[in-house]
Amino acid sequence: MTNHLGSPSNPRRVKLYGQPNSAAAYEIRDFLNRSVVEFDWIELVGDEDCDRELRISTLNDIRLPVIEFPDGTQIFAPTIREIAQRLGWVTQPRFKEYDLSIYGAGPAGLSAAVYAASEGLRTVLIERHAVGGQAGTSSLIENYMGFPEDISGANLAERARQQAVKYGKPTLQELPYIYRSQAKSGTHSFYAYATLYVINKNKRVTLAVRGVRRLDTNVAIITYLLAELESLKINVKKLYLDRGFFNTPVIRWLQALDIPFMMPAIKTGKKGGIKQFFKGRKSYKTTHTITKDKDDLVTFDLWIICKYRKGKRKKHGVQYLAYVTYKIKTNLDYIYEDYRKRFGFESSYRLKNICRIRTNNKNPVLRLLFVGIYFLLVNIWVNILWLRISRKRKGSRLIYRTLFVLKQMLSFLSQAIQRKYQVVESIYIPTG
Ligand SMILES: Cc1cc2nc3c(=O)[nH]c(=O)nc-3n(C[C@H](O)[C@H](O)[C@H](O)COP(=O)(O)OP(=O)(O)OC[C@H]3O[C@@H](n4cnc5c(N)ncnc54)[C@H](O)[C@@H]3O)c2cc1C
Repeated sequence: MTNHLGSPSNPRRVKLYGQPNSAAAYEIRDFLNRSVVEFDWIELVGDEDCDRELRISTLNDIRLPVIEFPDGTQIFAPTIREIAQRLGWVTQPRFKEYDLSIYGAGPAGLSAAVYAASEGLRTVLIERHAVGGQAGTSSLIENYMGFPEDISGANLAERARQQAVKYGKPTLQELPYIYRSQAKSGTHSFYAYATLYVINKNKRVTLAVRGVRRLDTNVAIITYLLAELESLKINVKKLYLDRGFFNTPVIRWLQALDIPFMMPAIKTGKKGGIKQFFKGRKSYKTTHTITKDKDDLVTFDLWIICKYRKGKRKKHGVQYLAYVTYKIKTNLDYIYEDYRKRFGFESSYRLKNICRIRTNNKNPVLRLLFVGIYFLLVNIWVNILWLRISRKRKGSRLIYRTLFVLKQMLSFLSQAIQRKYQVVESIYIPTG
């Protein structure tokens, strides 16, 4: 649940100055009481009180009541909305879409929010006045289940608010895995996974998946994934890396491990850097050194590829591509096609929408399990295609993918599960 209602921005006390019997001051005190904001009520009876407390000589010179916040700022004759805003209770929705909107934070709304949020629903609770509703005004509630010692309405409401808000907040275990970015499909929170994908004679399977924490370095991610290969006794002939791995520590690390690899080089800056090599009309090989400081430099082979657009996407002229390479067996004419093999991996990601398990749960272990199940299902499908729906061809296999699409396999699976576990599909209500 999003903390839409916020919480008091400062736990220290608020001061409220006003005349006895002032209706406006009473309304503010009621609001502060109901919102469980600790405050001192200071009555101003004459000019003397006014001068002593506020350093203003005449009571008639000021608009009362006056509220003073712990940081010393004062608002004269404030509205409830201004106070709520200043306390940080008025906020903007964090998400574009919610599973459930609840209007009114009385006991009914608060308990609905607690149960909805605890079930993982993205919930927003909107209150027009003060959390707690009518119950918030009760000084003593004696009949609430679980509180044999009695509790004030405001305290009960504040506890309920904290309970509801707690579910929306990621735990310390979850936090490192959550990436905040521009909203997509109603969320700003995303999770990242790194996968190790193997291509062997036209057969492509995912061998390892890892949840990526925000502070994981690229070198750490590669090391974790390659370690999985070691236990499977698989030898890497050529490692194809995404352009996101283009940085000096990764290049240095893979060179040190002596693993043949290739990855696109990112063109940064207007001049210099990789861009300085984008010249001429023929592809060529060169070397380049990136120097961050005298102890942080790396030299690598750089292949510059010239491609002619020939009106593709209505563009003409030379297009330059740059690849960092290390001990790979390929040539300038083929490297572009060779690297495109990696794109099969992206299409495996696209397939995930077919068999993806959707969840609001933030637990990174559970989410990794769901992602793992998806890759496992795709691997099973690839294997069935390879073993049963293909024909041997010189040096490889011809796979008839369209004869058995992934959706078909998933529908077979669901039928088998339904037959075994006898899923109830309909209930007949007796007539009469
Ligand atoms: C002084 C007092 C003492 C009480 N003591 C007890 C007691 O001891 N034991 C007991 O069992 N009951 C007690 N009650 C009754 C109890 O407080 C109510 O039964 C209970 O608060 C009802 O809860 P509710 O969530 O249904 O509605 P409410 O408490 O009325 O909450 C509704 C909330 O919705 C908000 N709202 C309304 N319209 C909108 C809108 N359009 N947009 C956003 N927000 C909106 C309101 O501002 C309010 O906060 C007491 C009531 C009072 C007034």
